[in-house]
Amino acid sequence: MDPEPPPFRVGFGYDLHRLVEGRPLILGGLRLEHSQGLDGHSDADVLLHALADALLGAVAAPDIGQLFPNTDPACKDMDSSRILQAAQEHVEAAGYAIANLDATVLAEAPKLAPHRTALQENIARLLGLPHGRVSLKATTNEGQDAVGQRAAIAVHAVALVYRQA
Ligand code: MG
Repeated sequence: MDPEPPPFRVGFGYDLHRLVEGRPLILGGLRLEHSQGLDGHSDADVLLHALADALLGAVAAPDIGQLFPNTDPACKDMDSSRILQAAQEHVEAAGYAIANLDATVLAEAPKLAPHRTALQENIARLLGLPHGRVSLKATTNEGQDAVGQRAAIAVHAVALVYRQA
């Protein structure tokens, strides 16, 4: 145990999944209309994975690859909402609560602006937070690398947690 636990801790998360034919696009726990979906062992929700890793990182818990191995049949096609909520449980078990989350989604397509509010509200709902605690930004990769070639979506995320009295 930390003899002097700090009042705040910060965590960072990153994830990338390939876009492929024949899969639904699940992002932020919502199904978005798109010609391709993200490939992965679970539902491949790259946004919830990056947010979960940010939360786990904030309390120095094992990362989602360790908690939910992609070799585990129980994780096959798993709803990543469960992964995000498990990460929140790790935060709470460490004596902290979520202050806020901020994520940047890197994608050429689909355009996320029309879905932004719905995504923020859904993530906040999954965590029981006011939706103003969840920030979501979207950008393209200016045509560069796999993200720019529409072959993948990547997400960077940070989480701040505060110590519970
Ligand atoms: Mg992932």
